[in-house]
Amino acid sequence: MAKNRKKYYLWVLGCQMNKADSEKVAAVLDGCGCDQAADENQADIIVAVACSVRQSALDRIYGKAQQWQKRRIRGGLTAVLTGCVLEFDKKKIAGLFDAVIAIKDIGRLPGILKLDRSEFFSTGGYFSLAPHYASSFRAYVPIMTGCDNFCAYCVVPYVRGREVSRPVREIIKECENLIKKGYKEITLIGQNVNSYSAAGFGFPRLLKKIDDLPGDYWLRFATSHPKDLSAALLDVMANGKHLTPYLHLPIQAGDAAMLKAMNRHYTPSDYLRLVSSARKKMPGIMISTDIIVGFPGESKKQFNNTAKLMRQAQFDMAYIARYSPRAGTAAARLRDNVPREEKKRRERALTEILKRTALKNNKKLINKTVKVLVDGCKNCKGTGKTETFKTVAFTGADSLIGHFVAVRITDASSWGLTGELV
Ligand code: SAH
Ligand code: SF4
Repeated sequence: MAKNRKKYYLWVLGCQMNKADSEKVAAVLDGCGCDQAADENQADIIVAVACSVRQSALDRIYGKAQQWQKRRIRGGLTAVLTGCVLEFDKKKIAGLFDAVIAIKDIGRLPGILKLDRSEFFSTGGYFSLAPHYASSFRAYVPIMTGCDNFCAYCVVPYVRGREVSRPVREIIKECENLIKKGYKEITLIGQNVNSYSAAGFGFPRLLKKIDDLPGDYWLRFATSHPKDLSAALLDVMANGKHLTPYLHLPIQAGDAAMLKAMNRHYTPSDYLRLVSSARKKMPGIMISTDIIVGFPGESKKQFNNTAKLMRQAQFDMAYIARYSPRAGTAAARLRDNVPREEKKRRERALTEILKRTALKNNKKLINKTVKVLVDGCKNCKGTGKTETFKTVAFTGADSLIGHFVAVRITDASSWGLTGELV
């Protein structure tokens, strides 16, 4: 059968959703007989699965696309842009790409690239396109796309559209398949998994059904919106056989007025109640969060409330972002009035708090033996993740990649653990 034998490279930026999207792009291109290139310089086709949630992400795509220009103009490279990019931003960078295509239309890629489709047939829409997983032991399974929440700063509802839940049986089939193939970690993904709804199934019921599938694997999920996190979900987590004690729960700000301005629909006290309930039901649970500093109008006093909440919540991890206005969002109409230097200062201040709380939490694991999923090995040093999603470095061998091992923790820093294989 004729093969294109073109080499492609996927340049992926952003969240787990983009990783899952890129695995669908890989399925389409592999299906057309293309091969993955070892690096971008050896590729005939580059597909950028991009993100425009923050200005910094957009700046990175722009920089990369400019680097690809020389080869594109010489005729040796076709560059395609897909992923989460706002129409407004697309228009600005479209000239640097041969094609710009929405991720839901990724099945059109063979036609756009004029590839031989003989080995590829699309089975329908985005959800039913079977991905080619980048890893042989860790997989991201989309359970929904889009978002209906319209947080004031966020482009996701504009780039991903309204919330659509994937049918239960499709999700179960994909998970069963992964478990059968020996996958060790399955992460269910969606912008707000807690509002999953399909054929009478809410998220806790879906999660329980997956957790009931027999096998040797960990089950994770992201992201949870605090306004929709139910006691039922925490109970399913606490009683799960495969569910891991790890919760990513973005707070965004620790000040009630800021949360209102961000359109988040919960208060700092609601959030702290959820954290303490999760810790009561699952002692040792790791809790991580997302925070935005310098949202329009955030005063020093309001920022201090976020710092205070961070000290109270004792996070294990926090992804702290400086606010950047995104065209079309509600907040873009407000004046971006916190100066850049002040945003940086606030970011540094929160990082300092995080360093202390994460170190304190990590130190509790010293001398404990924990289960680790090995995901890398270099010079006889292994790396992996605990069930609480903490990074561990330990002495180990290559052959352990993709396997569970027991590691005794000997040391801890703010950003990870060190240990030895038991
Ligand atoms: N669905 C997730 C988050 C998706 S976007 C949730 O509801 O929390 C990922 C993170 O990017 C957000 O949690 C937020 O902290 C950050 N972010 C989104 N828009 C931003 C903006 N305009 N400026 C800075 N950070 C932003
Ligand atoms: Fe964006 Fe809010 Fe939706 Fe998360 S919940 S994707 S922050 S609009």
